[in-house]
Amino acid sequence: MPYKLGIIVGHTDAKGGAVGLDLPREYDYHKAMATDMQAFAQSDFGHLSGQEAMEVRLFFRDGIGVSGAYAQVSEWVGSFASHAATVELHYNAATPAASGTETLSSGSAGSLALASSVQAGLCTLLGRPGQSRGVKVRNRTNKERGWMSLVSGTPPAIITEAAFGSNAEDAALLREKQFMIGREIVRRCKRYFDETVGV
Ligand SMILES: [Zn+2]
Repeated sequence: MPYKLGIIVGHTDAKGGAVGLDLPREYDYHKAMATDMQAFAQSDFGHLSGQEAMEVRLFFRDGIGVSGAYAQVSEWVGSFASHAATVELHYNAATPAASGTETLSSGSAGSLALASSVQAGLCTLLGRPGQSRGVKVRNRTNKERGWMSLVSGTPPAIITEAAFGSNAEDAALLREKQFMIGREIVRRCKRYFDETVGV
């Protein structure tokens, strides 16, 4: 039974999310990243001997919204939600001074474990001191930005906010490391499955 990783591209073509400095809209930026992530996962993790394979599928909110996209994920994983996870891809935007990396979690055990691992990997990749802005819990209790995505599907879910598109230095990181960010997320998800789920 392969692990299943659903990658959800944040926002929609009609409402593409934030527009960073010299960056494509979030939707376009992450659509390209997600396509590379899927190809990377298939070439590196699809058929490793001695380990469970990891299937990756891309999901979009276009026309069906957050609830529709996560319903597709839930249907895809069926009764194997514990052997699955979702990552929704975003970049952050705020005032020009705001910068850093954060990962949003529903607060469930699986989501927290996955979020911690992805956050650590992205901080190392992007040269962030410590854990940067850290893992933030968003769910039905606080109903803060992103909570709907985190609680709508059956598998553990996280949202990545690798950097701020509105900050000059962060936007440069997003431009330079677009595919490295995606591939690090894939690696960390595989590690989560192998070390946390598969034992
Ligand atoms: Zn976004």
